[in-house]
Amino acid sequence: MPEVKFEVLHMPPENTNSVLVCSGDDCVIFDAWGRASDWIKLLDSRGLRLRAIYTTHGHDDHLSAAPELARHYGIDWFLNEHDVPLVLWGNQILDFWELPRIPDDFKQPKNLTAGTFEILPGVKMDTFETPGHSLGGMCFYFPEYNILLSASIKKIILKNYPDETYVVHGHGADSMIKWLKENHPWFIN
Ligand SMILES: [Zn+2]
Repeated sequence: MPEVKFEVLHMPPENTNSVLVCSGDDCVIFDAWGRASDWIKLLDSRGLRLRAIYTTHGHDDHLSAAPELARHYGIDWFLNEHDVPLVLWGNQILDFWELPRIPDDFKQPKNLTAGTFEILPGVKMDTFETPGHSLGGMCFYFPEYNILLSASIKKIILKNYPDETYVVHGHGADSMIKWLKENHPWFIN
């Protein structure tokens, strides 16, 4: 089985946490922020084959490159259906960052729902719905790797994940469940 790697990438220009998961030369992206052209350069320089794109929620700073990448590579991108109406609303923010606008005829995402999926050979992912930050917010948990990609803290508390679970948030520094339990106000209260 090829080695599986999780890598948090801070694509320009804002501090969104995009995550690249690779199994050998195959990869998927979580929250494809930034320019599609930057992602294509990165993937090509590493000889990676992009298989799919998953999106925690429908705000532009988590999906700006996704429709274009999906079209370029002829792959699917996934977003919960409740957040599809948000996709074009974010164009004003993309103007602010001088990023390419998402066109009106953008490649439509596939609906992402709660369940367990094999996203790459041997890589299982549990998805669950965490409405709050947006109606269609989703979190992704990788039980074999103790990694959680998160758009929401409140529901994570209820899941009672192991202390050693590594949490990648939508923005800012990564943390561990143990640290959140001891320090985060929503965990403590
Ligand atoms: Zn957001």
